[in-house]
Amino acid sequence: MKIELKEVAEKLKAANNIIVTAHINPDGDAIGSSLALTQILKSMNKQVRVFIDDVLPPNFAILPQIKIIESSNETDEKEILADLLVVLDTQTDRIGNVLKLVKAPILNIDHHITNEGNNVDWLYLNANAAATCEIIFELSKLLPVTLTEEIAHCLYTGLATDTGFFNYANTKPNTLRAAAALIEAGVKPNVIAEEMERKSLSDFTGLVETLKTVQFFYDGKVAGLFVNEAIAHLVDSTEGFIDLVRVIDGVEVAFLLTCKAENFCRVSMRSRTVDVSAIARSLGGGGHIRAAGCTIKAPFDEAKKIIIEAIGKALNG
Ligand code: AMP
Ligand code: MN
Ligand code: MN
Repeated sequence: MKIELKEVAEKLKAANNIIVTAHINPDGDAIGSSLALTQILKSMNKQVRVFIDDVLPPNFAILPQIKIIESSNETDEKEILADLLVVLDTQTDRIGNVLKLVKAPILNIDHHITNEGNNVDWLYLNANAAATCEIIFELSKLLPVTLTEEIAHCLYTGLATDTGFFNYANTKPNTLRAAAALIEAGVKPNVIAEEMERKSLSDFTGLVETLKTVQFFYDGKVAGLFVNEAIAHLVDSTEGFIDLVRVIDGVEVAFLLTCKAENFCRVSMRSRTVDVSAIARSLGGGGHIRAAGCTIKAPFDEAKKIIIEAIGKALNG
C-alpha cells in the first residue's frame, strides 16, 4: 500500500524494535540513508540494527558509525524478529538474505520510479526526490530529532553521490535546499568530495585498462566499457568509470558491463535521451530514466550481445 511521508513518520514512531536495510552493491545513497535513519531512530530511543548484505566500498569508511552496519551473511541467527523492517533505496529484490532473515512488516522508502512495491506492507515512493537521503532529510522534519553533524554527513553523502555532486538532472531546488541545511548542520562538502573521489592505485590501474576497452555502437550513439574477468580482479569499485564515456560528443547511451562472477554480469547505464530504466526493467533490473542498471546471468560475451541489442531496440524504437 502506498503511503504519505506523514504516515511513514507515524509508523516509525510506533515501532520500538526496527531493522534498517538497503540494496546490495551499495552506493552512497544506500549507505548514507541507512546510517542516517539508524542514527535518527536511535536518538528517538528505538532499538535499531542496520544490515547491508554486501561489501562496503572503501570510500565510505569515513561515514560516521559505518562500523554498526552488519551483514546477515555473518550472523548465526536463524531469524530476527522486529516491529518493522525498513528497506531503503530499492525494492525488496536487492536486499540479499535480510529479506528471509528478518520477520517483520516491511516499510519501503525509495525514489526509484521502477519500484512497484511488490511484497511490502507500505511503500513511500517519491520519484522526484534526487536521493533516498533527500527523503530521509524531509522525514527528519516530521520526527522529534535534531540533525547532528554525523547524521548530516551521512545524508549529504547520499545526496551528493546520487546527483553526481549536484550535476545531474535530478538536482532540484529542494535538493540544494536540503544540501544547504546539511552544510548548516556542520557538513564539510570538500571533505566528502575528496573522500568520494579517492582511488586506490589498483582501481586506477583498472580504470586505465577499462578505458582501453571502449567500443562504440549504432553510429557512435552508444559507448560501452567492459570490465572483463581480468580487469575485475584489479578493481574494488568501478564508481565513476562510466562518467568518462557518457560525456563523449554524440553518445546518447553509455554502458559499463562488469564481470562479477561466472555467468553473472552487472550492467550500469547512463543516458542523455533514451529511458534506460525501461531497458534495465526489460532485463529484470531498474533505476531512473537517465541512470539505471541490471544483472545478466550469462557468460560475459553473451551478456555483451544481450545488452547491446536491448539498447539498440530502445534507440530505434
Ligand atoms: P549504477 O549504475 O549502479 O550507479 O545504478 C544506476 C541506478 O540504477 C541506481 O539508481 C541503481 O539503484 C539502479 N540499479 C542499478 N542496478 C539495478 C538493478 N539490478 N535493479 C534495480 N535497479 C538497479
Ligand atoms: Mn542506490
Ligand atoms: Mn538512490
